[in-house]
Amino acid sequence: MPAGAAVRDRVTAMSPGEQLCRACGLCCDGTLFHHVKLGAGDDPRALRANGMNLLASRARPPIRRLPQPCAALCADRSCRIYARRPTQCRTFECRVFQDLTAGRITAQAAMLLVRRARRWADRARQLLRRLGGGDEHRPLSERFLRARRRAESGEADATARETCADLSLVMHRLHLLAHEKFHTRPGTPES
Ligand code: SF4
Ligand code: SF4
Repeated sequence: MPAGAAVRDRVTAMSPGEQLCRACGLCCDGTLFHHVKLGAGDDPRALRANGMNLLASRARPPIRRLPQPCAALCADRSCRIYARRPTQCRTFECRVFQDLTAGRITAQAAMLLVRRARRWADRARQLLRRLGGGDEHRPLSERFLRARRRAESGEADATARETCADLSLVMHRLHLLAHEKFHTRPGTPES
């Protein structure tokens, strides 16, 4: 969603912010968010025509959302529908991105934060895979809550409970880092 992601497709002369987003993608892959909310200026039909699956609430008019992990996120962390991405994707900037572009932190410090967050998110997914579930298409925190419920249900064996304990620790660290460094303060665009 990032204005940061806004720039992911340009491969030449990338600014430090562009390079950061290209190395990150955490606001598109289900690590930081569950969905992108569509706004009045977004065209659901055009998004569907581009292969995007949208969710709609029962409200009238319905609130439409683009679920994460986003189907438009490519392996190289670029956005497949960059030119037609939703408004929220165009405007969102995480705090790391904001701090970098405002000169409050160096490119190196920003990249270290992104790498740390990605490392923990990768580790969490690895542990989730060990626990089974087959729900890779769901947001990370939702997968974690499901896995924890299974582990606490009494059906899990000792190994699974231990894996779930490791997962809880990784998710706790990831949530703290996301809260402190990635989520925006009230009043700033958020998804
Ligand atoms: S989380 Fe921040 S740094 Fe990462 S892609 Fe999104 S805007 Fe860019
Ligand atoms: S459409 Fe998907 S991949 Fe593209 S910027 Fe938005 S959330 Fe990220």
